[in-house]
Amino acid sequence: MTPRLWAAVALGGLAVALLVAAALLVPWHRPPAPRADQLDALRDLPQEQVRRGREFHSALRPGSYVGLVLGLAVTLALGLTPLGSRLVEAAGRPFGDHWIARAVLGGLAVVLVAQIVTLPLAAWRHTIVARYGLSTQTWGGWTVDVLKSYAVSAVIAAVALLGFYTVTRLAPRWWWAFGAAGAAALVVLLSFVLPVLVEPVFNKFTPMEPGSLRTELMSLAQRDGVPVKDVLVADASRRTRAVNAYVSGLGPTRRIVVYDTLLREAPPAEVASVVAHELGHAKDRDVFTGTLIGALGAAAAVVALYLLGGWAWLLRTAGVDSMGEPRALALMLAVVAVAGIVAAPVQSLVSRRVEARADAHALELTRDPATFEAMQRRLSTVNLGDPDPPRWEYLYSASHPSTVERMAAARAYARGER
Ligand SMILES: [Zn+2]
Repeated sequence: MTPRLWAAVALGGLAVALLVAAALLVPWHRPPAPRADQLDALRDLPQEQVRRGREFHSALRPGSYVGLVLGLAVTLALGLTPLGSRLVEAAGRPFGDHWIARAVLGGLAVVLVAQIVTLPLAAWRHTIVARYGLSTQTWGGWTVDVLKSYAVSAVIAAVALLGFYTVTRLAPRWWWAFGAAGAAALVVLLSFVLPVLVEPVFNKFTPMEPGSLRTELMSLAQRDGVPVKDVLVADASRRTRAVNAYVSGLGPTRRIVVYDTLLREAPPAEVASVVAHELGHAKDRDVFTGTLIGALGAAAAVVALYLLGGWAWLLRTAGVDSMGEPRALALMLAVVAVAGIVAAPVQSLVSRRVEARADAHALELTRDPATFEAMQRRLSTVNLGDPDPPRWEYLYSASHPSTVERMAAARAYARGER
């Protein structure tokens, strides 16, 4: 069998593994509450709040979608014409066309072009978020955040690019196998390392003061059979008024993280309700599920890219000789960008189902649907959410059930339907 045939077999195997993992680990059997219940919930929300949330999202929409289209257009223009390969060549020229310079500097140059082109739209977005009072950041703070996130992405990208092109050089016919294993390993590594190494770049975390809330949250976790090491408070208020909480780390390093904004805005019972939802993610191993599906998806993507490299027309269009050379990097990014746009609604659907399960867990754990509903209302008000977003946008990009769905779920629980 040729390497190409083996790759096709491997891709088939990965696709089957992906489907099996998704079928077994994603809680598909959790459809949203009936639409009539959602509409009842919507009617119970203050009209002014609904109007303001919708106005905010309408104001954000043009910038978000123009940014999406522009970013895609630039990525396609670089990847599906010889422009991208020329940019990679240019980045390597001062270093004698060395492959490492092409791989790392060329790769960063290609990514940077798309980011710089969409930067004005990100800035526009910031003006709207600030105008509505959700952001508390000055332009200085915003710029520092942008630079920090560029730096973090650049470090990760440089390591990935160097690793990938080392493999394509050492194993020109079998790089897809090593590349797939490496991509899967990178996804696993990032899901462990990002919370520990990257979160402190953006926020400060301090242990919560001993007191009744801390005691309540720790005992909630214990009652749930999800041991946590500590409760930390993140200084989110330096950036935003939005409220949130999450559980990060695994096993002995697991900790509950609560935004300082949440402590300021919500009474203790509602904080406990949010934390109960987060404990649901830990208990149901949602991080593991996400990591496994992500790792299989990344491995499949590498093999698919290798197989696409057999399409002579595509290589000619991009002005490159093979998919495994650094000059083909823009072409790969273009393919990945298109795949990302196609996969987005599926990812959103999976995420919404997982989030609905964590909501059900919170209701079971606290047995307090009234507080859960109050918290959902508060989340939506403070975060300027649209409680019932347009259907197409919800299907394409909503990572969580809508506020009216979550309220309706709490009411169904209160009625004894679960
Ligand atoms: Zn969640």
